[in-house]
Amino acid sequence: SRTFFVGGNWKCNGTISSVDKLIDALNSASIPQNVEVVIAPTSLHIARAQEKLQNKGIEISAQNAWVKGNGAYTGEISADMLADAGLKWVILGHSERRSLCHESSQVVAEKTVYCLKQGVKVIVCIGETLAQREAGDTSKVVTEQLGEVAKSLGSDASQWKQVVVAYEPVWAIGTGKVATADQAQEVHQTLRSWLSSNTSSEIAQSTRIIYGGSVSAKNCTELASLPDVDGFLVGGASLKPEFADIIKSGS
Ligand code: 13P
Repeated sequence: SRTFFVGGNWKCNGTISSVDKLIDALNSASIPQNVEVVIAPTSLHIARAQEKLQNKGIEISAQNAWVKGNGAYTGEISADMLADAGLKWVILGHSERRSLCHESSQVVAEKTVYCLKQGVKVIVCIGETLAQREAGDTSKVVTEQLGEVAKSLGSDASQWKQVVVAYEPVWAIGTGKVATADQAQEVHQTLRSWLSSNTSSEIAQSTRIIYGGSVSAKNCTELASLPDVDGFLVGGASLKPEFADIIKSGS
């Protein structure tokens, strides 16, 4: 009963003309009724994408937001602005922001609370590094990352309804090394049972847990069939025609 969710994270890529081309292609894509699709262009390209996008089956997301509202925060964009611009979604806590911009799980949780308060739904990203996996710390790392968000949202199902959890193992991002079906299912199941014990079984059953990290047209079908994988967050392949095939894998 969880609606399959496919996000396209364009990261720091694009030109006006490449955005136009991608949106043209998405306008002619047929989006299955039972798949929710969200694309995340850069902040600079969001307005352009909104103007061009005609496909009602696709929503637009931001890739980040500031922890607070408008004010003296040079270089930042607030959830207030996202809501004002009609955006429904934001990606928070992507591993690139955690590692390159030093965002802690506490900051990510704070941002999550603030965005939800402004009515912007959140795709919250978590995931272990290769060293953490090799040390046997995967479950600990991902439940601690999710745990910070859970501390703030508690067992409020109405809040969790606005949240999608993206499990993105850092070693799989942009590397072509996708998690195996067993690896993905194991972590997704761990996260769901953690949610069940620490929030409620209702929240655990209804929260989408999506996978990200080298998802492609080749590997999406097997991953989409896993019981606890409720969709994908796609990087590189979301800039290519195969994104349409990845969307279809969820139907
Ligand atoms: P890739 O699909 O390029 O590995 O990126 C995944 C990702 O980081 C999506 O947020």
